[in-house]
Amino acid sequence: MRLENKVALITGASSGIGKESALLFAQEGAKIVAVDVNDAEGEKTVSEIKAAGGEAIYTHADISKAANCENMVKAAEDQFGKLNVMFNNAGIMDSRDDNALVTEEEVWDLTMAINLKGVFLGCKYGIAAMQRAGGGSIINTASFVGLMGAATPQVAYTASKGGVIALTRELSVVHARENIRVNALCPGPLRTELLMKFLDTEAKKQKRLVHIPMGRFGEAKEMAQAALFLASVSRNFISSSVRKGPGQRALTRMFSRA
Ligand code: NAD
Repeated sequence: MRLENKVALITGASSGIGKESALLFAQEGAKIVAVDVNDAEGEKTVSEIKAAGGEAIYTHADISKAANCENMVKAAEDQFGKLNVMFNNAGIMDSRDDNALVTEEEVWDLTMAINLKGVFLGCKYGIAAMQRAGGGSIINTASFVGLMGAATPQVAYTASKGGVIALTRELSVVHARENIRVNALCPGPLRTELLMKFLDTEAKKQKRLVHIPMGRFGEAKEMAQAALFLASVSRNFISSSVRKGPGQRALTRMFSRA
């Protein structure tokens, strides 16, 4: 098993990428701290892990709040004694997010608070726990739009994901010699609730599919496999890499740990 004796905290674990990753990481032997604001679905993730013979707890945390992020990391250490893998994955896409001229300040602030500050806070408390554990792997979910821009305007979302990519690169350099690897996933468009709530007709889906080289939406399970790779290869050389989603180019930078 690829994550035997590891403790993994996953935000956004009630749905989509986070849920699939929680199930997969548990299958690979990790003890899971599933975090979300959707408590009913988060508890379901935990029940499914336990039914399959795994170990997991659910912790409610709004990642835009520092005290909540501190608590979720504390829950991992209190329950399982350490934190080895931190998957800062939760995010939102606000239906009011549009081009810079019409997007309201409130939408910008909310998107930044969850998508960018939430990842910063997860890293802030997660890195401290990993220093106590002697190292670890952090995976942040960004998006292809953070690299390329979005054809359908969503200025706050795109800027927040660009921020996650920059934050990931900075942390990967600063903490490389502490045996803490920091990477980002940049998925292309996925068939999850986040996007599908906007593409609620066949015509809208087809319009979006035209721009995806593979001609299909990606699946949350495919992103979970990429996250597992980044979480599991211990003492490897990969840090600050930007992993590809369907149809996107991969940019990978390798850093040496002297
Ligand atoms: P999803 O909507 O299925 O899952 C997102 C989860 O985050 C939900 O369970 C939600 O309750 C949780 N969440 C939202 N706000 C939160 C908060 N303040 N605190 C804690 N949890 C919160 O969507 P998904 O597609 O699995 O998205 C996961 C990540 O992938 C997001 O960061 C998203 O931006 C990113 N992403 C998605 C796509 C896509 O096309 N779906 C593409 C690129 C990147």
